[in-house]
Amino acid sequence: MSSTLDEHWFTETFADEGSAFSLEITDKLLDVTSPYQHLEVYATRTYGNLMVLDGCVMLTERDNFLYHEMIAHPALFTHRDPRRVVIIGGGDCGTLREVLRHPGVEQVTQIDIDEEVTKAAERCFPALTESNDDPRAELRFADGVKWVEEAPEASIDVLIIDSTDPVGPAEGLFKVDFLARCQRILKDGGVLVQQSESPLYHSGSIIRELRRDMLEAGFDSVATLPFPQPVYPSGWWSVTLAGKGSNVSDFRETDADDLTGLEYYSAAIHRGALSLPPFMQRLLDS
Ligand code: SAM
Repeated sequence: MSSTLDEHWFTETFADEGSAFSLEITDKLLDVTSPYQHLEVYATRTYGNLMVLDGCVMLTERDNFLYHEMIAHPALFTHRDPRRVVIIGGGDCGTLREVLRHPGVEQVTQIDIDEEVTKAAERCFPALTESNDDPRAELRFADGVKWVEEAPEASIDVLIIDSTDPVGPAEGLFKVDFLARCQRILKDGGVLVQQSESPLYHSGSIIRELRRDMLEAGFDSVATLPFPQPVYPSGWWSVTLAGKGSNVSDFRETDADDLTGLEYYSAAIHRGALSLPPFMQRLLDS
């Protein structure tokens, strides 16, 4: 993927698919080169602030609720009683905020490699960082691959991989060895969730391989849930769940119905997302 900028438009191009997505910008708010990536924040005319990492759109104020609610709540309502949660990546803190909506969660540790992402979120996306002072939240800045390697066995209920695309610093987060280590540090009944790219573009490649790798890594069940995401390639995205000794096609529907104040996720959305469109099922099975 690459991006271009003219005086008024930010454009992200997906060369493999011959497509592009543009947002009209009104200002550049931040431009930081960290040891890990190039971070930019723009003000847009209609999508609020926009965060870009290495030329790839990460999030906008207007539509990030879709991604953050779908990476957090299906996994948490799939686990029977999630208390100890770890987020790898997720430096913008939007996923952390969603996890902290669950009163039964006792501790959430977020491990992002790049502190600049969190600093940018605090400055330009304050709504996403509003729960950072919750006493249950712990923010660490380290490589998630290394952190998972060193974490004690069977110590976590839900592990959320909220990473950038599988290139650069996030490449290791999509490998089967990493998934096997994640499986090791989850308790029995534990749930892993990973952002898994576009159903339209990646069902026959990244998503299929990720599901295969999850099973090879020792997980017992997998489920991919698609959802709309206007600013990501194809406008459609997915998360993939994996269960250790649990069936990730079941979830606590009554509890999910009781969580109010959300913008997208509901028990009915979760149920619907578990039914994959035939084209996707065919590609995943091929
Ligand atoms: N919603 C976004 C998406 O799918 O495009 C991802 C959001 S979040 C900003 C992604 C985060 O992953 C970034 O902050 C980046 O620093 C972090 N990251 C990438 N590789 C990592 C690694 N090896 N360990 C920990 N965090 C990593």
